[in-house]
Amino acid sequence: ESLSPASSSQDIALSVVVPVMNEVQSVQPLYQQLSAQLEQLGKAYEVIFIDDGSTDGTFAELQKLHDAYPGIVRVVRFRRNFGKTPALVAGFSRCRGEIIFTMDGDLQDDPQEIPRYIEKLNEGYDLVSGWKFPRLDPISKTFPSRIFNWMVSTMTGVHLHDINNGFKAYRRELIQDPYLKLYGDFHRFVPVMAHWRGFNVAEIKVRHHPRKFGSSKFGARRFA
Ligand code: UDP
Ligand code: MG
Repeated sequence: ESLSPASSSQDIALSVVVPVMNEVQSVQPLYQQLSAQLEQLGKAYEVIFIDDGSTDGTFAELQKLHDAYPGIVRVVRFRRNFGKTPALVAGFSRCRGEIIFTMDGDLQDDPQEIPRYIEKLNEGYDLVSGWKFPRLDPISKTFPSRIFNWMVSTMTGVHLHDINNGFKAYRRELIQDPYLKLYGDFHRFVPVMAHWRGFNVAEIKVRHHPRKFGSSKFGARRFA
């Protein structure tokens, strides 16, 4: 993938950035669901997949999508697994849309919620974050997540219920903010940094699904 934002000849309204690591069974159905939804909006869009060092054939599936939907599906491949933050940064630095979505590649996030995010942005927000409700994950995930969300909310003054949700919408200005430096595992704190930079951050309740294929890529390490 060599297309830089500067080489954009078309005005792209929406970019969707999807980090994937070993999601071979999910990427095709995800793209079909996502594109069906995006087509309904009637705006030019692109979907950027970041293959974060998959070893299970995910990249071959992404190549098929890229060949089938040239100019719409873009694929960045990392030489090894770098983590979700670098994957999102790779997408942010290449995307061309005025509105940028991030979503997980495991079919847990529901593309049908996209219009609701856009409505919320249009109310005057710069970042809209999803709140998985009701949450369909195992208690081993939901309980630590509650503690994390409570801690972040108390310590930063940014009162979100599900800050770590991968399904978010951003205005371009926000992701281009030079002070929003993302490294390590900082994708978890984008709403906090955005708030500190004076951007308006909102949360909406969204439907989500239990993981269908494969397994979670974050073990107990995430809690540390
Ligand atoms: N992911 C990634 N790199 C990683 C870990 C995860 O690109 O090092 C992707 C993963 O493939 C998925 C998304 O990030 O598309 C969220 O990961 P996961 O579903 O495992 O997280 P969980 O839902 O368990 O929090
Ligand atoms: Mg998941």
